[in-house]
Amino acid sequence: MTQTGDLNLMKQINKSIVLEHVKKHAPISRAKIAEITGLTKATVSTLVHELIDSRLVQEIGEGASSGGRKPMMLLFNHTAGYAVGVELGVGHISAVLTDLAGHIVEHTEAAHSNDSVDAVIHRLIGCIEEMRGRAPDGPYGIVGIGIGIPGIADERGHVLFAPNLGWEGVPLRARIEEHFRLPVVIDNEANAGALGEKEFGAGVNTSHLIYVSVSSGIGTGVIINGQLYRGVSGFSGEIGHTSIEFNGRACRCGNVGCWELYASEQAMLQQAQMLPGRPTDVAALARLAEQDNPEAAALLDQTGYYLGVGLINVINTFNPEQIIIGGSMVALKQWLLPPILQCIQQRSLPLTRAGLEIEFSALRGRSTLLGAASFAITRFFASPKVSV
Ligand SMILES: [Zn+2]
Repeated sequence: MTQTGDLNLMKQINKSIVLEHVKKHAPISRAKIAEITGLTKATVSTLVHELIDSRLVQEIGEGASSGGRKPMMLLFNHTAGYAVGVELGVGHISAVLTDLAGHIVEHTEAAHSNDSVDAVIHRLIGCIEEMRGRAPDGPYGIVGIGIGIPGIADERGHVLFAPNLGWEGVPLRARIEEHFRLPVVIDNEANAGALGEKEFGAGVNTSHLIYVSVSSGIGTGVIINGQLYRGVSGFSGEIGHTSIEFNGRACRCGNVGCWELYASEQAMLQQAQMLPGRPTDVAALARLAEQDNPEAAALLDQTGYYLGVGLINVINTFNPEQIIIGGSMVALKQWLLPPILQCIQQRSLPLTRAGLEIEFSALRGRSTLLGAASFAITRFFASPKVSV
């Protein structure tokens, strides 16, 4: 029995290796896969046959010959199924429908007033329903749902603590699974954002990257050696709640002087209430800055400086290759980046910042959505239904 189990596991692993190579190097021939992976041609042939049967791989015609018969080339059938990626924010919900390669095919948004947990979940279900309804036909239909939340979730998909939503102990995965009867993955929005950047954004060629999501709070997703670092219980990355002012303001998390109380969008917009026209969102503040309003410029300069102070802690702790700033503040890049860079230049250790790239996300607010969809896709490919 054990031996059969081992053989099945071995086959499952080999099959996912073959599929990975088709995904990465397509169009590719069976012979080339055998050459790269070291698997025998017979094994590759059997596994490819099964992948074609399960509609995940397709033949697209003959490629160029390197002597002898022309090889049949293989492609990953990225439209065999679709995933829904969701970002649950404070006051808004975004959702995308992606194919199995993470290409966005549909997108929707909704506002929520955060009245009650039930009202927000109702809105969330509405957005997912809409994406499911717009999915093209495919052999696997919707393979799963990934949701990025502004807080901490455990392995059961319970939202343990989302201070900016006021949520504690909400069994979100169970609620969504119950409705859709589909696999659901719940994770922190910054973890999802880090994965989105690593797979589809500025971090594709980076192994050590920190994604810093700056919106109503500040969260970070940490990728070390190409892997998301979750800590022992999955709660790593709460750098927004490290103190930058040791006798500072009290935070809802229990600490005082937390980074996000000074450098988040919420902190900045509270201060913006003193400015002409009292801008209530990032776009209004940007308009004021574009009109060369000196108070708006000073506020943005100060916010950039506070962001820099916290980033120095990140840099000195992790010595990353790349820091990617995402979230709603991306729209303020032109004003925030200069004071961030100046602060880091003045105050971080020269050796830890050497070679470091600091960028703002270029995924136009979609890093968390793409990462959330990617969680669902990864889970689909890891499921026994697909692999064996
Ligand atoms: Zn805090």
